[in-house]
Amino acid sequence: MDQLYINKDQRSAVVEELQEEVKRLKENINKLEQQIHFIQQTCKHVFLEFEGFRKCIKCQKIDIQYY
Ligand SMILES: [Zn+2]
Repeated sequence: MDQLYINKDQRSAVVEELQEEVKRLKENINKLEQQIHFIQQTCKHVFLEFEGFRKCIKCQKIDIQYY
């Protein structure tokens, strides 16, 4: 690892930083999606009907309706 840093040019350092940031944000998205999933799983849904789908007004869960 250390040798990489001796020879690094700035561009490579920036890319590494950005990749770290992307990784961090993806993990964050994962966590948030899990939270949403948990809320939607434990919700007592109140659905509003639309053309082709219905949407819960409490947790925003969308059910696609097939006819
Ligand atoms: Zn709901």
